Amino acid sequence: MEFISKINVLPKVPEKLSRLPELSKNLWWTWNYDAQEIFERIDEDLWVDVNRNPVLFLKKVSQKKLNEASENQAIVSLYSQVIEKFDKYMKAENTWFKSTHREYKGGEFAYFCAEYGLHESFPNYSGGLGVLAGDHLKSSSDLGIPLVAVGLLYKQGYFEQRINSEGWQEAIFNPYDFDNFPVIPVKDEEGNELFVTVEMDNRKVYAKIWKLQVGRINLIYLDTDIPQNDPEDRMITYQLYGGDQEMRIRQEILLGIGGVRALRAMGYNPSVWHMNEGHSAFLGLERIREFVQEKGLSFREAVQAAKSSAVFTTHTPVPAGHDAFPFHLMDRYFKNYWPQLKASRREFLDLGAEIRPDGSELFSMTTLALNLSSRANGVSKLHGEVSRDLAKDIWKGLEAVEVPITHVTNGVHATTWISKELQDLFTNYLGRDWHEKIDDPDLWKKIDNIPDEELWNVRKYLKKKLISFIHERTKLQRMRHGETVEQLEEIEEILNPNALTIGFARRFATYKRATLIFKDLDRLKKILNNPERPVQLIFAGKAHPADKPGQELIKRIYEISRMPEFKDKIVFIENYDMNVARHLVSGVDIWLNNPRRPREASGTSGQKAGMNGSPNFSVLDGWWVEGYNGKNGWAIGDERDYTDLELQDRIDSVSIYNTLEKEIVPLYYDHNEELGVSREWIKIMKESIISVTSFFNTHRMLKEYTQKLYMTAAELGEKFIKEDFKIARRFASWVELLERNWDSIRIKVLSNVNEDVVYATEGKIEVKAEVYLPGIGPDSILTQIVLAKLEDNKVISLKSFDMKLVKEVNKDTYLYEGEFEVDERGQYGWNVRVVPYNPIMPYQHYLIGFVKYPQ
Ligand SMILES: *Cc1c(COP(=O)(O)O)cnc(C)c1O
Repeated sequence: MEFISKINVLPKVPEKLSRLPELSKNLWWTWNYDAQEIFERIDEDLWVDVNRNPVLFLKKVSQKKLNEASENQAIVSLYSQVIEKFDKYMKAENTWFKSTHREYKGGEFAYFCAEYGLHESFPNYSGGLGVLAGDHLKSSSDLGIPLVAVGLLYKQGYFEQRINSEGWQEAIFNPYDFDNFPVIPVKDEEGNELFVTVEMDNRKVYAKIWKLQVGRINLIYLDTDIPQNDPEDRMITYQLYGGDQEMRIRQEILLGIGGVRALRAMGYNPSVWHMNEGHSAFLGLERIREFVQEKGLSFREAVQAAKSSAVFTTHTPVPAGHDAFPFHLMDRYFKNYWPQLKASRREFLDLGAEIRPDGSELFSMTTLALNLSSRANGVSKLHGEVSRDLAKDIWKGLEAVEVPITHVTNGVHATTWISKELQDLFTNYLGRDWHEKIDDPDLWKKIDNIPDEELWNVRKYLKKKLISFIHERTKLQRMRHGETVEQLEEIEEILNPNALTIGFARRFATYKRATLIFKDLDRLKKILNNPERPVQLIFAGKAHPADKPGQELIKRIYEISRMPEFKDKIVFIENYDMNVARHLVSGVDIWLNNPRRPREASGTSGQKAGMNGSPNFSVLDGWWVEGYNGKNGWAIGDERDYTDLELQDRIDSVSIYNTLEKEIVPLYYDHNEELGVSREWIKIMKESIISVTSFFNTHRMLKEYTQKLYMTAAELGEKFIKEDFKIARRFASWVELLERNWDSIRIKVLSNVNEDVVYATEGKIEVKAEVYLPGIGPDSILTQIVLAKLEDNKVISLKSFDMKLVKEVNKDTYLYEGEFEVDERGQYGWNVRVVPYNPIMPYQHYLIGFVKYPQ
């Protein structure tokens, strides 16, 4: 039949619940369980069916249920409380930022990331980076930090994982209808949808701008899947980390360049630009273009203006993990762009040029980001060290310990990740405002007020909840595999709620060594199958669709989980996402993490577990190097780096078995008679909750970002642009002077300390040097003695002492004198060097590539 037209009928939200649609479109609800409870109470089954997506829920809920809810006193009063809380939150004037930085008058802090993980119902993330970015926004909102975020809105998000009956991962891409998500199209004053354009390979690509509200924070999304674009360009925002290098460069152009344009189109004028990982580093180019085209700066001046106010966070501890593009791709995509920066091709490429070990030259996003930022950081103490070591080649001539990359250790957003039941306990025993004082150590002293029994009962409940969640998921999976009714009944036997339960969930990259615990299957079998002290294992995680070795690990675990001797004790739960993560981190007894050190930049899932009272059992890598205190969990292996990987695997796996057999299992089953639970275990659990929650939370992390990076970048940026860019211009011409003359600098060290042995505290060692400084002069440099402490010929720490200018001995040649003292025994190396000096610049080694040693 032909229809005259079609109509869509939506339920009408009753007056008494009138602001539910508004609530559904602000992700504030994702970290407020009381807000979620409203939907759950209206129709619990539907709430689960729609994957806890309130926008979809309000489209699908029956009018009858809505009407009933509006007549239900309990629901209406819960609703009123939540709305009141929400309004108070959104309007709060007494936030941490406002009270700590009263005097701040600058613009927003713009935060760019390729993915954001905010909730499982909005799957625009693949893993750790995205979840961290999501938590970054939530804490910024809680603390009142003036942040605005930019990302790409992926039509198919990241894939949904299914495991087939042979154990192979299948990747399913579902196209999303954004109408079912909390994103809102951004409109201009006339009510027209807002678009930006970027040029790519001689074509104009359009992007539609969307907005997502995360509490008080706006997340601005770009979307190219619109009719204005060619089919090929519509695909740019289809998949997260899908496609080839060409797709990658397009996505990164869209994020970096398109992102700046989107902020401008909406009227933002940020004071700080944060590149969270190198994917967004093209944003620096667009800011240079703006300065050149709109403010009349030269390329060099614009570079300095852009650099001063930008911040870069690196997340990858291996060179291969950093994006880099061949020059021919850069030529294709940027040949019409660099003229707009008034730069030559070579000047432009030099911003990101990196020579790889094989001699080839690539345009590296990390190099670009380091060149175009004033502050940079890694994401844990150890990762800071690793990053400095990787970047020392970029800084040419600096020892790793001097490379100006600091660290801000990752955290997680506590009210997102701590289970509702445990949060209720905290509210009862620590006070209603516990989450506002989360980084206050005094608060956590009160944890001892929580009776052991009560904490244990909550944990027991959460483990049961996890097991029934796994049963449901496994049932769906095995029905798909076509198993018989009898086979399906066996699912109920999987996992024992009283057994010590180990959780392992993460991306299946091979360095994470998901199968390490299976290295000695016989030994593991004995541990798991001890009738008095049973142990069981739960696994989850996705492998990248192109990562065959990662998928083989999944298959191997799946196969082991179906072996008769393991079938009820080992389970692989499919489609690891934030929902699965929440169940796991709160339901298992310990959290296993065994990456190949030092490959884990930080890791955050262990922090989620630790906060929930699931102690970590982890390699001393990433955050756990800082987190482990001897009382809050267990370490695997030692703080050693290996070159023989097989040896490392063997040693670490033996460490896992030994610790399980000798410490973890006996302690867990050391039941106190009346309590039926081990008091010593609860002590570790409590210590885990205190030590992890009080420090490894994103509130502490955001305060550090604000103080160490955002405020300093805002200040420097402001200094550079004021008075019509006076300082930027001056600084740029000074840098040019350095560049022209740097190679001609010569250093001749006159003193000679020949003695191999110097006794400690035996007095000062004097050094004289003649320095030839044509065209630069002594005011623009420092001549320094560098003194490095060595261990096995490796520099472990370094001091520098400025030398005094004595006189000009010849034209352009200056005599310097200095001294140093060594008061501790050991081996040292020393040298003399020249580094730039400019009173405008508070940071040493701000400029890359300017260190001169004697030749
Ligand atoms: C927390 C989280 C991650 C990151 O955890 P790692 O410890 O870095 O592996 C990845 N995926 C999901 C779904 C998460 O919730």
